[in-house]
Amino acid sequence: MRLTFLGTGTSTGVPVIGCGCDVCTSLDPRDRRLRTAALVEAGGLSVVIDTGPDFRTQALRAGMTRLDAVLFTHAHYDHVAGLDDVRPFLFDQTRPIPCYAAPATAAALRRVYPYAWGGDAYPGVPVLALRELDGEPFVLEGRYDDTVDVRLPVVPVLVQHGTAPILGFRLGSLAYLTDVSAIPDTSLPLLEGLDVLVLDALRPEPHPMHLSLDEAVAMAEQIGARHTYFVHMAHQVRHAAIRLPAGMTLAYDGLAVNVG
Ligand SMILES: [Zn+2]
Ligand SMILES: [Zn+2]
Repeated sequence: MRLTFLGTGTSTGVPVIGCGCDVCTSLDPRDRRLRTAALVEAGGLSVVIDTGPDFRTQALRAGMTRLDAVLFTHAHYDHVAGLDDVRPFLFDQTRPIPCYAAPATAAALRRVYPYAWGGDAYPGVPVLALRELDGEPFVLEGRYDDTVDVRLPVVPVLVQHGTAPILGFRLGSLAYLTDVSAIPDTSLPLLEGLDVLVLDALRPEPHPMHLSLDEAVAMAEQIGARHTYFVHMAHQVRHAAIRLPAGMTLAYDGLAVNVG
């Protein structure tokens, strides 16, 4: 399984419009962050976690040629605003792309993209299928053709994002937890034995909706994955200035890692 960080930035992206700070003007490419999203490839399956407003750019940059499913963590703009741009993946076939989301996220997706789920659509709209998650594990399977014979089990992992419960996902020995301020005790058993953990780490200062860097490091130590990559960084985080314990790294856009 291969994980590609399509974006690693907070909701504004970095640089922030109009900002002249050290990070927003940095020449280090690792300080340029599109909105947080990821691509997971396994045995011919190609799955995206969240489609934020930078999805088109991210798909082009990653050289994506197929998309079998989208997993949504939650319905904030920076995680859903690019969904319409999955349309090119549907040009050569008519089967809908399945989109997996918790009920509250699914309701928001229906509201934002009322034309995408079948019915009275005009020609050219994306054809998607909403799969509401009840918290139980599910299995992703090949979509385009019968040449992909993969069954990829996915375990939804409930996390807190401020006052809202949202989803992270475990795929094999990878867990992807963006937009996290706390992890309930009931979710911790789902995070045992990880090879790779992806975890929210917004900035050094605390924030009600996100883990700070120190909080994220403490959480990563508690979970104990072989390696932890931090995402959703704001412009208070200068990549080259951050020192982390062994086994922990700030992710950056375009970074790809093998899992397991
Ligand atoms: Zn976010
Ligand atoms: Zn959010």
